Amino acid sequence: MHAAEILSHFAIKPVSGDHAVHSPADGAEIGRVAFDDAAAIDRKIAQSVAAFHAWRLVPAPRRGELVRLFGEELRAHKDMLGRLVSLEMGKILQEGLGEVQEMIDICDFAVGLSRQLYGLTIASERPGHRMMEQWHPAGPVAIISAFNFPVAVWSWNAALALVCGDSVLWKPSEKTPLTALAVQALFARAASRFGDVPAHLSQVVLGLRDAGERLAKDARIPVVSATGSTRMGRELGPVVAARFGRSILELGGNNAMIVCPSARLDLALRAIVFSAVGTAGQRCTSLRRLFVHEAVYEKLVPQLKAIYAGLPIGSPLETGTLVGPLIDRPAFEAMQRALHDAEAEGGRITGGGRTLEREFPNAFYVHPAIAEMPDQTPVVMRETFAPILYVMRYADFDTAIAQHNAVPQGLSSCVFTQDMQEAEKFLAAAGSDCGIANVNIGPSGAEIGGAFGGEKETGGGRESGSDAWKAYMRRQTATVNYSDALPLAQGISFDIGP
Ligand code: NAD
Repeated sequence: MHAAEILSHFAIKPVSGDHAVHSPADGAEIGRVAFDDAAAIDRKIAQSVAAFHAWRLVPAPRRGELVRLFGEELRAHKDMLGRLVSLEMGKILQEGLGEVQEMIDICDFAVGLSRQLYGLTIASERPGHRMMEQWHPAGPVAIISAFNFPVAVWSWNAALALVCGDSVLWKPSEKTPLTALAVQALFARAASRFGDVPAHLSQVVLGLRDAGERLAKDARIPVVSATGSTRMGRELGPVVAARFGRSILELGGNNAMIVCPSARLDLALRAIVFSAVGTAGQRCTSLRRLFVHEAVYEKLVPQLKAIYAGLPIGSPLETGTLVGPLIDRPAFEAMQRALHDAEAEGGRITGGGRTLEREFPNAFYVHPAIAEMPDQTPVVMRETFAPILYVMRYADFDTAIAQHNAVPQGLSSCVFTQDMQEAEKFLAAAGSDCGIANVNIGPSGAEIGGAFGGEKETGGGRESGSDAWKAYMRRQTATVNYSDALPLAQGISFDIGP
C-alpha cells in the first residue's frame, strides 16, 4: 500500500509545507508538512487555554464519553494507523499495530477512570469540621513526544489529560509528524460525533525542538510531559521549573537483564531477542545490558548468537520481518561509533554491520549486534539508540545487582530465575533501582495498567496506569467548618476579645 493511499485515508494532504518526511523503510519522501511559527504557536496556546476553560466544566464521566468515542475510531482505523506508524517510524507492522492497540487500551482505562477521580476524606483534628482532598483540572497540557513511539506516548498522556478536564497541545517528533496528523484526524471524528466539544481541545504543534522550547517556556501551560533523550530532559526540565510548571519527564533508558543459573533459558532467550532487537533496538525499554551467570554463559550465549544469525531483517511492512530499519543515517553512525568504542574497550563484537544497502541505498538496515564485554565499560554505561546488546558474565548475584544499578539511567529491568530468594531480592528495596522491575519477563513491552517511567536520568516521570492521572490535575485540600465556633488547628489560642 502506497503512502499516498494511507494519508488520503486520514484526509491528510501529502504536501502542505516545506518540511520533508522520509520513510526509514526505503528513504523515500512520503509527505511534506508545514511547521508552526512563533505566532502560530502563541495562537494555539491561547486557543488551548480557551478550550480548557470550557472543558473543565464538563462532568468527568461525560469527558470520558469523548475518549470512549475516540477509542472506537482507533479500533475502526487500527490497521491503517498501524501501517502509517510502520511506514513513518520504521517499526515492523506487528509493532505498529501493537502501538495502536496500546492507544485503545489506555482509552478504555481512561473511560473507567473518568468515574474514579477520587479524593480522600481526611479526619480533621477540629470538632465540627470536615477535611477532604479534591482533584481539579490543571490546565493545558503540552505533550512533547519522541520518534520511536510516535502515537502511543501521546495517548498515554492525552487520554488521561482529557478525562481529567485538560486541553492538550501535542508537539510530535519532527521525524514523525504524519502519524500525529492522522491521530488528530481521528480525534476530530470522535469530537464531531460527541457534539459539543470545545474548539481546539486537542491540537498539534509541528516544528523542531524550538517549538518544544516555546511550549516549555510558556506559563499558560501548567503541565509539560516530555518524552525523549536525557539531553532533551536536561534542557527542558529547568526551563519548566524556572516558571514553577510541572514536568513529566520520560527520558533515556539503559535496561538490563540478569540471567541466573536456575533460569528457564528457553524463556530467557525469547525475552532477550524480543527486547534487544524489537523496534531495531529503538525502544526506551530495549534490552541493552545482559548479565549472564558464568554457569550458564557458555550455553546461553552461543544459542543467542545462532538466533541472531537467522533473524529476518527487511522492510517493516513485509510479513515475517522481525528487524526493520534504523530511523536514519545519524542513528546508524551513532551505532557504528558505539561498536567502535566497545571494541576499543575490550569487547568482542558479533554482527552490527549494515545490510540491504543495495536494495535500499537510502535506508539503514543493520544486523543487530552482540558485544561481549570484559566489564561494564564507559560505552555500556550510555544509551545508544540501536540494537547493540552488551553481554557480561557474573559470578555473584549481589555483585550483579550492584553492576545493574551502576548506570545513570533507571527505566526498566528484569531477572530470569526460578530461585525465589533471587527474585525477591531483585524486587526488594536493595534490589533493582528502576521504575520497572520484572521477574521472568523481558524489560520491554509494558502493559498500560501500571505506571510507566523510571528513575535517575530517566527523569522520574510516571505516565499511563495506576495513579499517574494525578499529575494532570491540581490537588486541593478543602476544610469545611459546620460548627458554631472557630477552633484553630494545633490548638493555637488567638484571643481577639468578645
Ligand atoms: P529527542 O530528545 O531527540 O526528541 C524528543 C522530542 O523532544 C522531539 O519532539 C524534539 O523535537 C523535542 N526536543 C528536543 N530538544 C528539546 C528541547 N530542548 N526542548 C523542548 N523540546 C525538545 O529524542 P528522540 O531521538 O526522538 O527519541 C529517542 C529518545 O527518547 C531515547 O533516548 C529514548 O530512550 C527516549 N524515550 C524515552 C521514553 C520513556 O518513556 N522513558 C519513551 C520513548 C523514548
